[in-house]
Amino acid sequence: MVLKPKLRFVDSELEKIKQNHLYRKLKYGTTKGAIITIQQKDLINLCSNDYLGIPPLNMKLKQMQSSSRLVSGNDESYQNLEKKLAEHKSLEASLIFPTGYMANLGAIPAIAKKGDLILSDEFNHASIIESCKLSGAKISIYKHNNMEDLYSKLKSNQKNKFVISEGIFSMDGDFSKLKEITDIATKTGAMTILDDAHGDFVVGKNGKGTGSYFGVSKKIDLYVSSLSKGLGSFGGYISSQKNVIDLCVNKSKAFIYTSALPSFLVEYSLKRFDSNREKYQKKLQTNTKLLVNGLKEIGYSINSKTHIIPIIIGDEKTAMGFGHYLFKNGVYAQPIRYPTVPKNKARLRISVTAWLSPQNIENSLEVFDRAYKKFMKF
Ligand code: PMP
Repeated sequence: MVLKPKLRFVDSELEKIKQNHLYRKLKYGTTKGAIITIQQKDLINLCSNDYLGIPPLNMKLKQMQSSSRLVSGNDESYQNLEKKLAEHKSLEASLIFPTGYMANLGAIPAIAKKGDLILSDEFNHASIIESCKLSGAKISIYKHNNMEDLYSKLKSNQKNKFVISEGIFSMDGDFSKLKEITDIATKTGAMTILDDAHGDFVVGKNGKGTGSYFGVSKKIDLYVSSLSKGLGSFGGYISSQKNVIDLCVNKSKAFIYTSALPSFLVEYSLKRFDSNREKYQKKLQTNTKLLVNGLKEIGYSINSKTHIIPIIIGDEKTAMGFGHYLFKNGVYAQPIRYPTVPKNKARLRISVTAWLSPQNIENSLEVFDRAYKKFMKF
């Protein structure tokens, strides 16, 4: 892949690391007892942190790698999953982190630094906010999905500029204006970072995510996502051009200085990735329609076009009462309050899954009907 001009800084940083003999490269291996096998060579493992060496109690449970991926924690299963995730995102490479939160914490400060400018949507997730702070770059918050605000704030002539948005916003369930974001980023020479934790595996062709949903996959420079949501497994990952991933391997503290995700979780993700995801994607769409239509019929005002459905209540006390009423009547959905959402924008957040049967949905709607009369009609 030809290196995008706006990513040239990545190559020069990598070159510096190489010149100082500090370049790190992952070696894949398999751990069994005291032996690690790397490139078909059995080696005595003197770099594991599994100090007590307690044998696996259940033979089906594999031994943990008990080490950072750059030391002896890099099981071969990572190579398979990272390859599949890169193809899934139509990008050159991927890198798995222990969680999505850590993927943000690791990747953003590895590529953005003091002197750079980050434009971040005001509704971005806490892990993005903390990661931006950690980078040392100048942070400019643009109004939620407001493209005029984004454009006016991006026009500065700072050298390296980044726009960061979620694909589907976790608390409002709305899509980002990704087509416009990528157009503005192209016009202003900014790099687009998309946290697609809630859209990945769920929307777009073959579940390729929000980029694919809007037909702008190729314009996303760095994807951050979670394996713990659409895929129902555990972990986080990023996808980008190979040199960006290389830079993260060399600079991401949340990658270098933590233990690798256990290989059995990576294998679990691989199995779920290879399952008939399309069938479940369709079921989720059907369930979402069913629930949204039912809620609208009751009288709720629903604006969401995704499987994340907020019912905006307003004051925190009523939202808590609403949540408690649902709980008492057999429905579990969380009231979300400040500081997760702005003050007086408390809401009940519903997330639909393909697990729900039509009966589950019907029963929930009955409870929502009663709750509406009790809490929403004044
Ligand atoms: N990004 C967003 C937008 C999220 O909503 C979340 C989790 N709520 C994360 C990242 C973190 O993902 P994980 O749960 O895998 O740490």
